[in-house]
Amino acid sequence: MFGLIGHLTSLEHAQSVARDLGYPEYADQGLDFWCSAPPQIVDTITVTSITGQQIEGKYVESCFLPEMLATRRIKAATRKVINAMAHAQKHGISITALGGFSSIIFETFNLSEIRQIRNIQLEFERFTTGNTHTAYVICRQVEQASRKLGIDLAKATVAVCGATGDIGSAVCRWLDARSNVAELLLVARNQERLLEMQHELGRGKIMGLEEALPLADIVVWVASMPKGVEIDPTVLKQPCLLIDGGYPKNLATKVQYPGVHVLSGGIVEHSLDIDWRIMKIVNMDTPARQLFACFAESMLLEFEKWHTNFSWGRNQITVEKMEQIGEVSVKHGFRPLLV
Ligand code: NDP
Repeated sequence: MFGLIGHLTSLEHAQSVARDLGYPEYADQGLDFWCSAPPQIVDTITVTSITGQQIEGKYVESCFLPEMLATRRIKAATRKVINAMAHAQKHGISITALGGFSSIIFETFNLSEIRQIRNIQLEFERFTTGNTHTAYVICRQVEQASRKLGIDLAKATVAVCGATGDIGSAVCRWLDARSNVAELLLVARNQERLLEMQHELGRGKIMGLEEALPLADIVVWVASMPKGVEIDPTVLKQPCLLIDGGYPKNLATKVQYPGVHVLSGGIVEHSLDIDWRIMKIVNMDTPARQLFACFAESMLLEFEKWHTNFSWGRNQITVEKMEQIGEVSVKHGFRPLLV
């Protein structure tokens, strides 16, 4: 059995979902209540591969909300992640993806040092961040969507916002080694990590966001921001492809401007309907078919019986592992979202 640990995008979102799911006692509560709420399994899932194989899974709602980080409720945030992991393990789940901020919190606050949760000794090989598949899907989106828009990658400038992160660094490695992009712009806040990334790649210009936006034919957004940013679309090139892989989204508002194309990043479409409620709850356009690539990674690991933490530790993702997970993604009928 596979598992997905997820969370909602804001307190307001959580309150409305609680009402819809039949938890009225959660719906009128503020952030403090969510800080103390335990994890819950709120969905059971059946997925069929195009090979005919069928697997079962469960969605664990961690009750984490991005406002917990924004208001420095760090203890609550870390407890959410670790308790959700213990909950998944207690229910016998073999491989569980740490969706959205779960893996970021796990890495940022060194949660690998906490192994004992009450009577449960966490077995980390039962968990994956799902970031290898996410990075692979985003890179395929860059390659395929740019072709559709007539942007030639061999002449294109690609800005990666969050270039030093787990997903961003993997995206940079692939764009450098596989996609033959002309220019890479590396955007993040910590200069030391940016220099390390530039050194590893042997290329890439370090830039602030304001400086990078007018130069980019393609912007990949993979920054871990609890709230999205507003951008001025008039400064962008035309055409310009914006691939927003953040969860919550890095772009605060839907950019609508001539020549600017926005694509939801790190989203895959399955070839067959999936019987579940959770993607409707997170407002996916086609909830029976579309899902986060990190969640799809735990499904792929279950299909292949690779019960191992395939994606683990920050900035360890190699192009070879992206190819490996990409191959089984295609085999089981997932494809990167392109509209
Ligand atoms: P990491 O924490 O590993 O990396 C985050 C990156 O963003 C770092 O480079 C960080 O560098 C940068 N960053 C953070 N804040 C800012 C800012 N204000 N301006 C510019 N750069 C910033 O995160 P991940 O790579 O694990 O995840 C990235 C995003 O992808 C998250 O939003 C996450 O929720 C989402 N995600 C999406 C998935 C999907 O399936 N679609 C799956 C998993 C994650 P610095 O701190 O130096 O600025």
